[in-house]
Amino acid sequence: MLVIEDFSCRYGKVAAVKGISLEVKKGELVSLIGANGAGKTSTLRALSGIAPISTGRIILDGVDITRATPRQILMKGMAHCPEGRRVFAHLTVKENLELGAHLRRDNAAILDDMKRMFHRFPILQERRHQPAGTLSGGEQQMLAIARALMSRPRIILFDEPSLGLAPTIIDTVFDLIAEIRKEGITVLLVEQNAFAALEMCDRAYLLEAGELKRQGTGRELMADPVVREAYLGG
Ligand code: ATP
Repeated sequence: MLVIEDFSCRYGKVAAVKGISLEVKKGELVSLIGANGAGKTSTLRALSGIAPISTGRIILDGVDITRATPRQILMKGMAHCPEGRRVFAHLTVKENLELGAHLRRDNAAILDDMKRMFHRFPILQERRHQPAGTLSGGEQQMLAIARALMSRPRIILFDEPSLGLAPTIIDTVFDLIAEIRKEGITVLLVEQNAFAALEMCDRAYLLEAGELKRQGTGRELMADPVVREAYLGG
């Protein structure tokens, strides 16, 4: 479904990603793990059209989207749930959800989806008229995920969804991502929590200093001595 070929990302003299190739098949949950600064966020941002692509090609459903705009990419069915959640703090919960659907024109279906979101996330319904900035970190993460779902994506890019959340909320967020995938949405998950990311994925890639160092099934990477030593605490 998503193919990345020889992709590099540079910011001036800084080479953040150095010629990586990876693939996410339809229905898969693929994890991209690696330390701080490995280039994971740059990769997701480039896929969404908001970070530079210096070399390489990005193919979504057989179509070259390397030069596509963020809007075109979202319209093609790829949504991004960004690092740090990035909800619109001054807008209400409901307005944030509406923005998730801003490229859709099927108004009746949007209303149905909104109802479904409120049913799925009762806390968001309860807080629907509150500014999103007043929500807790976990609630904001739910909102960011619900906002991404409002675009009716076929694939979602999750960037560090567990970052800065309390352990009990982290479990809820990972359960939700697993559920989303079961519903048939393809997932590319960036996580520093390597154990959780490897446990829940079909396949994974390890990125180190902008280069792919390992790839395989979650189980294979969990058994790999290099991964165990550096990312799973031995
Ligand atoms: P993190 O988990 O901290 O987000 P990451 O694996 O997602 O790390 P990136 O954020 O992609 O890594 O960063 C990769 C490299 O690119 C780092 O050296 C970083 O300092 C650099 N970098 C990222 N964004 C920019 C930018 N806008 N301008 C200049 N350098 C950048």
